[in-house]
Formats: sequence, structure tokens, C-alpha cells
Amino acid sequence: MPQPRPPHLQNLRSPKHWLKRLTLGLLTTIITTWTGAYFIEAIRGPAAYLGPTRAQRPFLEVFRVDHFGSQAFSGMDVLDPEDSDFSFTSMKIQEIDGYPNWTRIPQLHATPTMHSNGYGMTHTDIAYGWPCLALSNTHDISLLGTRNNRAVEIKYGIDLGPFTPTTPESHRILPYKPIIPGLIINTLFYTLTIFTIPTLIFKTTRYHHRLKKNHCPICNYILNDPHQPRCPECAWQRPIPTPPSPTTPNQK
Ligand SMILES: [Zn+2]
Repeated sequence: MPQPRPPHLQNLRSPKHWLKRLTLGLLTTIITTWTGAYFIEAIRGPAAYLGPTRAQRPFLEVFRVDHFGSQAFSGMDVLDPEDSDFSFTSMKIQEIDGYPNWTRIPQLHATPTMHSNGYGMTHTDIAYGWPCLALSNTHDISLLGTRNNRAVEIKYGIDLGPFTPTTPESHRILPYKPIIPGLIINTLFYTLTIFTIPTLIFKTTRYHHRLKKNHCPICNYILNDPHQPRCPECAWQRPIPTPPSPTTPNQK
């Protein structure tokens, strides 16, 4: 005869409950990612920087950031100033150590952006998320003009304006382009660590604690008879004990 499972264990088999937990996990992923994007200005990347250096020399740099904290950087020259053919090769780009595959960097060789007056632009891919990068956006700055009036173009992100008036190029952006593996991993991470495991531990502990006090484990109604088969309040049914003699107190 199958034992009735406690309700908190039954929920583990219910698709409806999993849908609810996963939705909460996804919302938590978006909230944590946007919290990072809102408050952490310094962390951007992995990123490609494409534009002239001070010497008006085209240059490509790659920033790499894995989590909220660490940042790695590598850079390389992609062109000689005398080189008339302004093109990137895939081979050169692949020489950069470990560029992340969610950036637009592999496509940059097809779209070298250089203004007709010789100015370039900075293209940056920015991503946030913990424990994995989950959402990203792009951030293009035209290098034409002075520092205060350069055109900034943002894609895949909600632009909330400059972080501070003194850094007009550095915008506060809430990204919405998903990095699919990171989004899935973070959603599962929050679903389990916040919305599944703590609830399960709490309800299992409470269930056994109430049983021990001779209360109904579901509604906490006081049961007068320690072997009362049903709770008169919520109709909970006492599981049939596994030992053959139910009158023996199972003490350890
Ligand atoms: Zn009850």
C-alpha cells in the first residue's frame, strides 16, 4: 500500500510548482544581473575596443570579465598606420587568448568601422550576471568630436544615461540580450538555491518537529492521541509505520 507523501515532497513532482520555481529563478537572474549593471560601472566586458589610439593608430583590445569581480585584459595591434587596407583577419582575432564566444568580436573583421575623417569608434560588448554572465548589450562611441559630445549608441540595453556628469561616455545600461548558457545556468542556480532547497529543508524540519510534539505536521493542530490516524482539522493521514509493532516507541 503506497504511503501518502508529505505535501512538500509531493510538490517536487508537480510541474506546476517547478514552473513557479523556475519563473522565480529567472526573475532573480534578471534582478541580480540588472543590480550588477546598475551599480558596477568598472566591470565591462568581454569587450572589443576598435578605434585609433592617441597616435591615430587603429587598435584592437579585448577585455574579459568572467564574474562581477575579476577582470582580464589583452590587446593587440591589428594594423600598421601605413596599411591602406583596413581589414581584420579572423586569424589575427583568434590569436587573442580566450575571447568569449558571445561577443561580436569574431564578426569585427567584416565591419571595421572608421569614419571618413579618419576617426574610428569604440565598440564594447558589456555583460553582467552572477554566477555566470547572463545578459549583454553593446556600446558604441564615435571618436569624432570632443569627449563631451561624442555620439553614443546603445543596442540591446535600456540606456539610463551617464553614470556621472564627468563621464559622459560611460552609461548606466540595463542589458537585455540573453547569453543563453549563462541565463540557463543562473536560472537553475537561483531556482535550486533560493526557491527549492531552503523551502524543502524548512518544511521537512517543521514536519518532523511537529510530529515529535504530537501536533499535526501540516496544520499544527494538537493531536490528543499520539496514534490518531487523521487530523480532524485538515484531514492529514498518519503514515503507517514501517516497524511491525506500531506501539513500540521508535527511540534512538
Ligand atoms: Zn492538520
